[in-house]
Amino acid sequence: MIENKKITAIVLAGGKGKRMNSDVRKQYLKLQDKPILFYALDAFEKSCVDEIVLVVPQGEEEYCRKEIVDFYHLKKVTKITPGGKERYDSVYQGLQAVEETDIVMIHDGARPFLTPQLIDKAAQKTIECKACVVGVKAKDTIKIVNEKNCVIDTPDRNMLWQVQTPQSFSFHEICKAYEYVLKHEIKNITDDAMVWESYCHIPVMMLEGSYQNIKITTEEDMIFGAAILNSLNCKNN
Ligand code: C5P
Repeated sequence: MIENKKITAIVLAGGKGKRMNSDVRKQYLKLQDKPILFYALDAFEKSCVDEIVLVVPQGEEEYCRKEIVDFYHLKKVTKITPGGKERYDSVYQGLQAVEETDIVMIHDGARPFLTPQLIDKAAQKTIECKACVVGVKAKDTIKIVNEKNCVIDTPDRNMLWQVQTPQSFSFHEICKAYEYVLKHEIKNITDDAMVWESYCHIPVMMLEGSYQNIKITTEEDMIFGAAILNSLNCKNN
């Protein structure tokens, strides 16, 4: 709770993680003895967030309750709900499971290295501005190419950011925006802010996050993940 506003996190772990090439789903793979999914839940647990809705693959609700939520004593997880086919379906399922709240923070469970401090900053910014995403300045030059891979433009790098999660919004507006996008079958939606931008006229604010807030997607990300975790542990000891 900040300034009397209730804050709910939706943590998404409803994906199949096919690009990981592993028999175990990526959200349950271990980084230093703990499942990847534990780390994001633990950061929310230590933040200003009041409750967490955890979205998991259909049929894995009990497994997650027992092996992750109960096992690691994650007290803020109040609901575990099945996800849908695409990420935006899972977000919508998560939004449906949220009881009355003021602010909702949507986060990929595959991003284990967000910090409680960043979550608190994003919540504060959302109270002020209604919509906020976490990102980092693009380090590389980005080219726009056509369908023949021919470069057609080079946008000014100073204006380019790589967007991560959490992405945080006023609850009622983001629910309406999701309903609008699903009803009108708007395509090529790649993040939650795009859903907001399709419907709401209030600008989304960018909050500078960290290059460590990576999404674990493929096998080599496990190596980067282990290295980041090591460096975080060294800093904390
Ligand atoms: O597939 P990708 O890595 O982009 O997924 C981002 C996050 O969204 C992951 O944490 C994944 O578990 C979640 N997701 C989901 N439901 C889906 C697809 C992805 O909850 N249908």
